[in-house]
Amino acid sequence: MSGYFDLMQVCTNGHVITDNAASLPHFRRPFCSICGESTITACPVCQASIPGEYHVPGVLVLSGATSTAPNNCANCGVAFPWRQASLASAVEILEMDLEGQDAVDAAALVPLIATENPKTELAALKLKRLMSKMTKPAYDVAIKVVSDLASETAKKMLGMKP
Ligand SMILES: [Zn+2]
Ligand SMILES: [Zn+2]
Repeated sequence: MSGYFDLMQVCTNGHVITDNAASLPHFRRPFCSICGESTITACPVCQASIPGEYHVPGVLVLSGATSTAPNNCANCGVAFPWRQASLASAVEILEMDLEGQDAVDAAALVPLIATENPKTELAALKLKRLMSKMTKPAYDVAIKVVSDLASETAKKMLGMKP
């Protein structure tokens, strides 16, 4: 028995409006009720649909929004607007408080700690060293922002394991 994916509608800040936008179109909204941003159902770059709930034929759909928004488009790999915004915030806070080459290096490490990849651990270690040079108030904000987007491996290395 094979199923199919419904369509997800997400606001550009990453709030999921519905993951049944195709089968239950009355759940669709042009704007987000949480933050007021406009909503999308497809990748802004390649126009591929954002997959929603997986339906198995014969099983009743009961839910509205249940899933979390994906980070990247599975068709072209580009980060969705909400993911780009969190990466940009992390870069901004690091660049704000670090100087010269440290700021440049820290910014370059952000995409590497955001995913699981062969360089995640090394990147997290380097970022931890750079972040130790930050002033306390900026560090406190930065560790929150970075922890929101860090991969599990990076979180462990950065000492942010819950
Ligand atoms: Zn929103
Ligand atoms: Zn895409």
